[in-house]
Amino acid sequence: MTAANSASTPDPAPRSRELFDRALAVTPGGVNSPVRAFHSVGGTPRFMVRGQGAFLWDADDNRYVDLVSSWGPMINGHAHPDVVRAVQEAASGGLSFGTPGEGEVELAQEIIDRVGPVEQVRLVNSGTEATMSAVRLARGFTGRRKVVKFAGCYHGHVDSLLASAGSGVATLGLPTTPGVTGAQAADTIVLPYNDLEAVRATFAELGDEIACVITEAAAGNMGAVAPQPGFNAGLREITSAAGALLIMDEVMTGFRVSSAGWYGVDGVAGDLYTFGKVMSGGLPAAAFGGRAEVMERLAPSGPVYQAGTLSGNPVAVAAGLANLRAADAEVYAALDRNAGRLGELLGAALTAEGVPHQVAFAGNLVSVFFSETPVRNYAEAQAQQSWRFPAFFHALLQRGVYPPPSAFESWFVNAAMDEAAFEVIAEAAPHAAKAAAAAEAS
Ligand code: PLP
Repeated sequence: MTAANSASTPDPAPRSRELFDRALAVTPGGVNSPVRAFHSVGGTPRFMVRGQGAFLWDADDNRYVDLVSSWGPMINGHAHPDVVRAVQEAASGGLSFGTPGEGEVELAQEIIDRVGPVEQVRLVNSGTEATMSAVRLARGFTGRRKVVKFAGCYHGHVDSLLASAGSGVATLGLPTTPGVTGAQAADTIVLPYNDLEAVRATFAELGDEIACVITEAAAGNMGAVAPQPGFNAGLREITSAAGALLIMDEVMTGFRVSSAGWYGVDGVAGDLYTFGKVMSGGLPAAAFGGRAEVMERLAPSGPVYQAGTLSGNPVAVAAGLANLRAADAEVYAALDRNAGRLGELLGAALTAEGVPHQVAFAGNLVSVFFSETPVRNYAEAQAQQSWRFPAFFHALLQRGVYPPPSAFESWFVNAAMDEAAFEVIAEAAPHAAKAAAAAEAS
């Protein structure tokens, strides 16, 4: 609820409010992942109790078209019968054995079959673990220390990858959160996204110290910012020439933007890949993989240590496999179609109200930037009129649409979105555009 209407409108989510008050007492900020707290938009985070197809229901039984899709995994919509059945069957046979299992082999094979450059896979429990392990492996493989990442790309909360820096030329990373020491960030070089010249200059100076470049295959964590034509290919060329590895982080794009992820879109091969979200089916699972020559350096075949009590958990693996197998060509066509339709509805409503905006796509990742000009990097994303977003967000929420609660996140469609879902969005969008138009810079 926005401050402007809180006096006149009854609280639409009293039960969520009550739960949030309890949560605040027992959990820092009331949430188990910060963006869920609605800090940048204000108001009460909705406590969801149920999902079916394209819709979520909160603790007050309000229904929402879900444009978050659990931050990516739910491409087939909520409670897809194949995924639910697979989980029930796996769970009824036991929850965890701490031994190898057939499902792990099948999930690894499914990933390998879809993503050409991936020859071997190691399963882990979160995207953070995947990127942390991939960077460690790259360092172990090359015997080098430095890592290049791009400002505005998020690779999970790995200490060294939280380093960020303002836009500009090559900058040695400084920690951006207390708890990450200068030493942990010192080997991280943060460069502007979509700027190959900055990458070339950095490699010219430090090339033989750089273990890897890690990039979101298409950036989704500063809003949706696709790589400019030739950017990923340029990274491939520069890293190969310098004997550094290229890590394509496909935790967000993997198996969402095509059956082969962003690799299926631009065909640029990384040495290592990180995956999560869709291949988890919504349970805690993730993976990293790549060239066998590199992957074989992992313990127990090689010396680079990496492990996990619950890695390859049979229930999570069953969910992931079922999610991938349910995603046929029609699902990918529906994701693209739904993203396009969502973008059109939002764009038309904002245009009608004269609100400066860009509806941005990276494959079927969508976001809205309140900006006059296209956004190519983090500095440009930050320069948008993000003060319009809270009013836009709450107008959608009040009318039964649940977008990500931040101006810097991608919106995730799912294949279950039907006419009923789009009717809700079409009805809400003009109100949201009016609210964005009326918003004032704070
Ligand atoms: N990499 C990318 C590109 C992501 O979008 C995320 C999470 O959103 C991660 C890594 C971290 O994944 P997790 O939240 O599962 O640790």
